Amino acid sequence: MSHPLPAEVLVPRRPPIETTLFDFFKIGPGPSSSHTIGPMKAGSDFMARCAALSGDVLRRAEGLHVTLFGSLSATGKGHGTDSAVLAGLLGSSPESCAPELLPSLLRDPEARHSVRLGDTWLTVSLTDIEFGPVQHEAPFSNTLQCSLRDAAGQELFGMEYYSVGGGFIQWKGWTPPERGRPVHPYGTMRELHQCLDETGLTLHELILENETAITGMSRPSIFACLDDIMDAMYDSVRRGLRSSGRLPGTLGVWRKAGALLDRAVALPFMVDRFLAKLNAYAFAVAEENAAGGVIVTAPTCGAAGVMPALLYAMRQDLNIGERALREGLLASAAVGFLAKHNAGIAGAEVGCQGEVGVASAMGAAMLTHARGNAARVVENAAEVALEHHLGLTCDPVGGYVQVPCIERNAVGAIKAYNASLLATCEEQEHHLVSLDAAIMAMGETGREMNVKFKETSAGGLAVSLVEC
Ligand code: SF4
Repeated sequence: MSHPLPAEVLVPRRPPIETTLFDFFKIGPGPSSSHTIGPMKAGSDFMARCAALSGDVLRRAEGLHVTLFGSLSATGKGHGTDSAVLAGLLGSSPESCAPELLPSLLRDPEARHSVRLGDTWLTVSLTDIEFGPVQHEAPFSNTLQCSLRDAAGQELFGMEYYSVGGGFIQWKGWTPPERGRPVHPYGTMRELHQCLDETGLTLHELILENETAITGMSRPSIFACLDDIMDAMYDSVRRGLRSSGRLPGTLGVWRKAGALLDRAVALPFMVDRFLAKLNAYAFAVAEENAAGGVIVTAPTCGAAGVMPALLYAMRQDLNIGERALREGLLASAAVGFLAKHNAGIAGAEVGCQGEVGVASAMGAAMLTHARGNAARVVENAAEVALEHHLGLTCDPVGGYVQVPCIERNAVGAIKAYNASLLATCEEQEHHLVSLDAAIMAMGETGREMNVKFKETSAGGLAVSLVEC
């Protein structure tokens, strides 16, 4: 089967993908990978660099200052970016951060916390994190400048960081880290199919072989880390289903996951029960994320409910075995890698099509692969899910990852399920649009999208809900 338009005409050649599974699926606190996980990493990276400065410089150090720009400034308050940066400066990392740390830092903004650099002790508080201009000249919207200062406020050492989506950070002068090369290099879905055809490998086997080559990890280590990721996803569903009350922030949004599940199981028709439960699972994780709870980026915090909802439903309701679930997760990663590589996965860069849209495409791929379908069918499922999120803007009301984000995760999970059904029920060779074409359209749409629809809360529902 081939898609009717030659993909090399549609998709410019890109270098091969070198993103790894554990770069991509990150366990950490919500509510936004760009606004919490990335900035926390930047804070802790900055402190590690400061600690390596000479004793001469450190003896003159008196304070720390961080300025947030772009969408980090526009919606950073609602996302808790200031507390995430502070936690990073104090030595926390997203994977080991206690779930209650960020809310506790926010309770007393004036509180000064001690931090040690060599023989020098400094104090730092939320008041040292400044919300700077939304419009700026740096190459990425989510920019933060960290500065170590002397008693006169002069900078002794500074870094400019970019939170580029999915919890990834880069910095001014950043170059990709040296590591192994993929044994099956691909930059597009078309090239991935060529690798599969040439090697005879399954999609999940190919992703595994690349992972081993790039990271040097053994297969048992990779499986153990994948199981940790799946366990963190299941935990976030269970925690969300057990929780109740209002979410943090000024919107007063009620948690609904538990009630949705209670009503779902009482519905008379089996198909309704299944879909309503899928909604409840997605709400559970998206609500946990909104509360600053620990979730897995898939591909981001804002869209963290889609994949766990499907995974949980596949395990609990569809009785799909552990091995097939793990293989499905590996297949879903290929879709996420392609989207990140060729378009973007951050709401601040491409809108919500890159967050919930990509999560839905990954979920469709996971389900379709786990049910034993061919790679072309897996591609078609991912493509359908992504195609019907194209143009989706990012307009979080009040800067909180709550409205429209929580419901949107549930809708994304249901769309993923339907995309998988469409792809498995149609003739695979009759499918017109390639995943490469859908990703390319997402990238172009994201580039052309007005900045007010990219996580700034300056347009869309963020404005109409307030004005109506
Ligand atoms: S609207 Fe979508 S992209 Fe924007 S914060 Fe919410 S989930 Fe993320």
